[in-house]
Amino acid sequence: MSFEDSKNPESKISPMMAQWYACKEKAGDALLLFRLGDFYESFNEDAVLLSKTLDLTLTKRQEIPMAGIPSHASESYIDKLIAKGFRVAIAEQIEDPKETKGIVKREVVRFVSPGALVHSSLLEEKNNNYFAAITEFSSFFGLSFIDLTTSAFYIVEFDSISNLRNELWKILPREIIVSKKFASHYSHLLHDMEHSFNPLIQREENWKFSFENSVHFLLSHFKTATLDGFGLKEMNPGIQAGGCLLKYLKENLLLSLDHIQSVKTLSENEFLSIDPATLRNLELTHSLKDKSQKNTLLHILDETLTPMGGRLLTDWIQRPLLSLKHIQERQKAVEVFVNGPKFLETLRYFLNFVKDLERLMMRISSATAAPRDVGALFQSLQSLPNIKNFLKENAFPSATLQKIEANIHLFPETVALLSKALNDSLPLRLSDGNIFRFGYNKELDDLKTIRDNGDEWLVRYQADLREKLGIKTLKVGFNRMFGYYIEVSKGQAHQMPSSFQRRQTLVNGERFISDELKSFEEKVLSAEEKISSLEQGLFTGLLIELCKIFKPVMQTADALGKLDALQSLALTASNKGWRCPIVEDSFIIEIKAGRHPIIEASECLDRFIPNDTLLDDKDHRLILLTGPNMAGKSTYIRQVALITILAQMGSYVPAEHARIGIVDKIFTRIGAHDDLARGQSTFMVEMTESAHILHHATDRSLVILDEIGRGTSTYDGISIAWSIAEYLLLHEGKRARTLFATHYFELTKLEELIPGAVNYTVAVHEERDQIFFLHKIIKGSTDRSYGIHVGQLAGLPLEVIQRSKEILVDLESVNSRKINFTPKAPKKITRKMIENKEQMNLFAESGVS
Ligand code: ADP
Repeated sequence: MSFEDSKNPESKISPMMAQWYACKEKAGDALLLFRLGDFYESFNEDAVLLSKTLDLTLTKRQEIPMAGIPSHASESYIDKLIAKGFRVAIAEQIEDPKETKGIVKREVVRFVSPGALVHSSLLEEKNNNYFAAITEFSSFFGLSFIDLTTSAFYIVEFDSISNLRNELWKILPREIIVSKKFASHYSHLLHDMEHSFNPLIQREENWKFSFENSVHFLLSHFKTATLDGFGLKEMNPGIQAGGCLLKYLKENLLLSLDHIQSVKTLSENEFLSIDPATLRNLELTHSLKDKSQKNTLLHILDETLTPMGGRLLTDWIQRPLLSLKHIQERQKAVEVFVNGPKFLETLRYFLNFVKDLERLMMRISSATAAPRDVGALFQSLQSLPNIKNFLKENAFPSATLQKIEANIHLFPETVALLSKALNDSLPLRLSDGNIFRFGYNKELDDLKTIRDNGDEWLVRYQADLREKLGIKTLKVGFNRMFGYYIEVSKGQAHQMPSSFQRRQTLVNGERFISDELKSFEEKVLSAEEKISSLEQGLFTGLLIELCKIFKPVMQTADALGKLDALQSLALTASNKGWRCPIVEDSFIIEIKAGRHPIIEASECLDRFIPNDTLLDDKDHRLILLTGPNMAGKSTYIRQVALITILAQMGSYVPAEHARIGIVDKIFTRIGAHDDLARGQSTFMVEMTESAHILHHATDRSLVILDEIGRGTSTYDGISIAWSIAEYLLLHEGKRARTLFATHYFELTKLEELIPGAVNYTVAVHEERDQIFFLHKIIKGSTDRSYGIHVGQLAGLPLEVIQRSKEILVDLESVNSRKINFTPKAPKKITRKMIENKEQMNLFAESGVS
């Protein structure tokens, strides 16, 4: 039956089910939880889904399937549904049953969906929870994303789908809306996202993405005459995405967006570009092994003490800076705390008292805050003077720290109000009561006196009655079913005055109630009820009062997040003996005694061997790294990328000394994995990633290639690997600084042929039949991979090892010509190259025509 059918007077459905159909119509494809007394019930297909998903009993009422959850435990059930990818609509009773005759009115009052969580155990403290909208407009892409728990709202534009992709893989939205047209044009992007981080994707009608509607919505939301003030001038697809996103949240999910008071734009040109493959391969925020944050760069760096700092640090790792000035400003602030361990200690002590101001304020402004949330806000606000004074009094020589100090606001009036209002220990739920301090509200205090002095009155009343009636064993008591009573034994019941009414008969006794006790009961019970409703009213009033400081608290939270992220970088640097890198405008990457920040922290390692690196735009543009398996090639090339990222995010680095000429994009092609879900073989993935790098790298980029061409035949592989290296060395505009680890010894010839290519290898010490990897990168090359040795270490049967050695000897004797292999010079790479005599001469000099 549909909603329309249910409206038909002939349909014979109950008025309650008619209400359900009306709500279900509003809920759309969300699972409807319909409030019935102390339960949220679901019916029909929703009930089948609910019972299956949550393992609940499925019942039937008048042939309608039904399943329910108790309202007091609803949050945890809803979290389970959300975690399993459902959206939930909640229909509440919107009238007081006591004041309503007939059926209570019910309506859908809120939606809960993965991207729009405000209060949930699914929210991770140090991660944002984004809801996004994506649009396309004249070959430009618009992306808008919002974290409803912190009010962070962004609009960004991209000139290519690959840049859009980079951003999506950083922010990992939990929920996304796109037009049906976009979904059909870019189905591969949606499929990749579903495969990679599994957001809930809503495909909406195309007309909902109209530019005019979006502009109109944003203007009326922000109550401005133009959007230029937000930096949105001419950002058409961006505005389209932003307006459409807010409109969807307000109209479809019934969310109040009053606290979204501003929008930020992000410019692609401000940040070092990191694509999804690099994000994954370098394990910046999620580990390759289990996607957790363990053994990631974030894990190494995270010494933050506040959730705001934690979330910001993740953002800094994903968005290293490009501006020398901004990098140096961050370095200066970090330096203050590295050089001042006492300052660092004091600051960390103060930061311990700061709670998640952003999320607390969002809960307060959406009236979903619990008493302890307000308590946490109170504690945080109290700690602000300490932090502000600390920064002010020490007048640190850092513009960043000075700006932070200026943006930390103090709230003495709110602190005074809360200290007068709140009890020292606060309940979990508002309904638990006992929130307000004595003296905050007179009416509340009076009611509490009535309630609390009851015991005294009862004791006195019992003593009076005993004396008056001469019954020593008479008891005055209370039970939940019958209320207050006067209890005497059966034999004494006849002594009770006739004005006393019998309330309950027990095996050995009788219970009575007197008029006096009844009036006391009414007073006490109504006091309890009145206290509860008064406390609720006072709490709502307090939340409204706190909303007035929303903006300055959010600004303070932002400043504290920065301060926390900076001190976290400083503590990591101090603890690990990292050094401040020189970041400059050159094309040089010079690292002395560099280490891999994650591997060096590994407990399985006795000692990490540091290594030097030199890359520039002259003789050291492409390092060809040959060497045995397990020698440390991957570790080495990744460490260079990680040190560069650290340097550009303003952090210290794991090296004795580092000079980093700004890098605009980092690319990595590492490891072998197939993408069977997308029908791509390992080799296809490898080639797709390589193509992406060659198309997007620039002279300023850093390229990390760990094995190219392994997934095909040896000759195919060498040819592709050779030509990719050559392309990066010779193609103007693509001459990225490159680290190329390979087993193809043939490639080491490039050093003789093309300037910029330089050979390095990893030192090995052989003693009798034993091989020791020294993990030391040295100049030179090797044609030995020691693969059989690694096979032996891995436990291959001895026969297989012996036989492999025999075959290897044969193969090497047959194939000894490979050492002399040199391909002809490239015929045509670009017009410019052909004109470039210097380069062509190089081939001539080496005797190749
Ligand atoms: P390859 O890429 O040459 O096969 P890896 O870089 O994967 O080798 O390194 C293999 C292992 O060797 C690492 O997991 C680590 O335990 C160890 N290792 C690598 N580099 C170093 C180093 N510089 N110092 C100490 N141990 C290292």
